[in-house]
Amino acid sequence: MLKTCKICGKQREMMSWENTCFQCNEEKHYKELKEEILSGETASTSCEDKIVCPHCGEIQEYDADDYEVYEDGDHVMQCHDCEKYFRLTVSVSYYYDTEILND
Ligand SMILES: [Zn+2]
Ligand SMILES: [Zn+2]
Repeated sequence: MLKTCKICGKQREMMSWENTCFQCNEEKHYKELKEEILSGETASTSCEDKIVCPHCGEIQEYDADDYEVYEDGDHVMQCHDCEKYFRLTVSVSYYYDTEILND
């Protein structure tokens, strides 16, 4: 259903029990994560959709040339913001959709 987000005020598709949109929820999540990292409460991140530096909490942007982020396993990365090194563990997951063919 289309609802008005309490944070950004935009009309977005939301679940009936939600009053903030996906974008705002995500932003809030990464903001809280960054605060936890900066306050020393946590020194790692896990199962995030984005790569977050465990030193400074900045989200790491990457492009198609950064092949490490698409490769299963452990990689050492340098933060684009604070330039410190951290370990990135990539878990690539696959999923499958199937559909009946019409002939
Ligand atoms: Zn919003
Ligand atoms: Zn950093």
